[in-house]
Amino acid sequence: MTNAQLKEELVAYSKSIGIDKIGFASADPFLTLKERLKTQQQLGYQSGFEEPDIDKRTEPERLLPYAKTIISIALAYPAKLENPPKGVKGKRRGIFCRASWGEDYHIVLNDRLQKLEAFIHERVPSAKMASMVDTGALSDRAVAERAGIGWSGKNCAIITPEFGSYVYLGDMITTIAFEPDTPIDDQCGTCNKCVDACPTGALIQGGQLDSNKCIAFLTQTKEMIPERYRKKIGNRLYGCDTCQVVCPENKGKGEEYQPEFTPDPEKVKPELLPLLSISNREFKEKYGKMAGSWRGKKPIQRNAVMALGHFREKGAVPKLQSLLTHDPRPVIRGSAAWSLGEIGESDGNHAALQAANEQEDDASVRGEIRQALMKLEKEVEHS
Ligand code: SF4
Repeated sequence: MTNAQLKEELVAYSKSIGIDKIGFASADPFLTLKERLKTQQQLGYQSGFEEPDIDKRTEPERLLPYAKTIISIALAYPAKLENPPKGVKGKRRGIFCRASWGEDYHIVLNDRLQKLEAFIHERVPSAKMASMVDTGALSDRAVAERAGIGWSGKNCAIITPEFGSYVYLGDMITTIAFEPDTPIDDQCGTCNKCVDACPTGALIQGGQLDSNKCIAFLTQTKEMIPERYRKKIGNRLYGCDTCQVVCPENKGKGEEYQPEFTPDPEKVKPELLPLLSISNREFKEKYGKMAGSWRGKKPIQRNAVMALGHFREKGAVPKLQSLLTHDPRPVIRGSAAWSLGEIGESDGNHAALQAANEQEDDASVRGEIRQALMKLEKEVEHS
């Protein structure tokens, strides 16, 4: 069997196992990306979640000796919730971004890549392969761009003509030399909607992202969210979709997708208050299979605490006061202080904050409490 025949068979097989798009790229080093990553590192734009070794990220042969081709796969995910539950006063809700809907994409894409590997291995037993999804060293986007899956939009996502940017990407490096596919021309043109709409100005002209400003990244950190971004995060519990939602290339997309990604509306748009009391076991049972739970329950709870402050949800005051005083995690106490300050004087918030200040031994939480107290006092002055 020639490599051209194998490629044809692989493409047909990929469709039969639920891969929406497949492309082939040479495994040559990614020289332009290397320069861009170096600049990003110098400018401090990186999130810290990525592989720190830039050579590994840009030279496929470092990951698989004698690498010849990288196969890029894309699986489509949904963009709309059927009958989304409505958040109302007393029962406010948070939201997980679309990339966390349904089953964790790492598991689903790894399954598809393993099937592809087995298919190749049966036909070419001597072939070597290395597959990766998201956490691998390679840049999924750079590979997908070179393999003709889509172009790299100004929103830093790969945009496919068929599914917009609502696709997950995975890669397989192989020692088989397949004919590469042709990249798709950049079609962003003069559009700048995502750059203009980004709530924190994280998208920088030229398709770069300052991760430290990106809400998707901020929602995954475990520390206090910097004050200037808290209101902008709103009720997001994990991730942010703004730059995808405003993209004209995504209009009408996200209706065809792999069944594993079908969202449970109650899970992806959950009530906020119950999240604050959820046990570790319940959290694992309910959210453990979602991509958005990978950092554990603390960031989700911190975001839920802040979302209640964003809604100025008075019904949450008793719970927030209790967290402020009793929660063992400083980030939760500090976020509760901020939210109580946002909600304003209600149910003895001022007294509760003062009492908490006296017993608090964490300096950063005391700082949050003092800020909240000042806010309440200013409100009283102006009322
Ligand atoms: Fe490109 Fe416009 Fe979409 Fe941004 S919103 S990715 S500029 S098409």
